[in-house]
Amino acid sequence: MNTKLSILVIEDEKNICDFIATALTSQGYKVYKSYSGKDGISQITSRCPEILLLDLGLPDLDGMDIIRKVRSWSDMPIIVISARTQENDKVTALDLGADDYITKPFGTSELLARIRTAVRHLSNIKGSDSKDSHIYSAGGLVIDFDRRRISVEHREIHLTQVEYKIVSLLAKNCGKVITYDTIISQVWGPYADDNNRILRVNMANIRRKLENNPAQPQYIFTEIGIGYRMRDADS
Ligand code: CA
Repeated sequence: MNTKLSILVIEDEKNICDFIATALTSQGYKVYKSYSGKDGISQITSRCPEILLLDLGLPDLDGMDIIRKVRSWSDMPIIVISARTQENDKVTALDLGADDYITKPFGTSELLARIRTAVRHLSNIKGSDSKDSHIYSAGGLVIDFDRRRISVEHREIHLTQVEYKIVSLLAKNCGKVITYDTIISQVWGPYADDNNRILRVNMANIRRKLENNPAQPQYIFTEIGIGYRMRDADS
């Protein structure tokens, strides 16, 4: 194995911080811990971690300011840790440039899945894996971005232009939640009405075409009040 991938955890609740550190260390990651925002920022600059796990509710600094600050100079994946009561904060954090979020309380497998997605995103940033960007494949769903073709269990699916834009945006960011506003501005442009209705209508049509049972989707999941998350690609 190469040099260990390094992750900084900024979380003021010591038991949660230690739980995360133990889980990640056992998987072979190098973990740095910080219990406050100011110390966290200084560790980001001194230790140069590759991934940041950031609690939004810190005693000394607002987690949002940390995201803003980091995003002014770095593309490092940021995974926000938030409480269940902070739905609006999640949307704000994602729109500020956080990559993903995990809601307390969470288990080890969920945490590790988020980290794997971030690691994949990291290799996309570095451009070290150009091969995997042209085909998305998960379960029976295959998207060929070069040919703009989609199939489910070898059956070709016909999407409208708008439906294809939505699906390919989600697939290129698979495993990550994409907010309603991000989808709307990417698909309809920055001056689009920020009403979600047209997006919901399109998503209902997409699901009817892609999913065996649109009420229990296997490919595109709803993150209520936040956005959509496409199933992680098969590795
Ligand atoms: Ca906290």
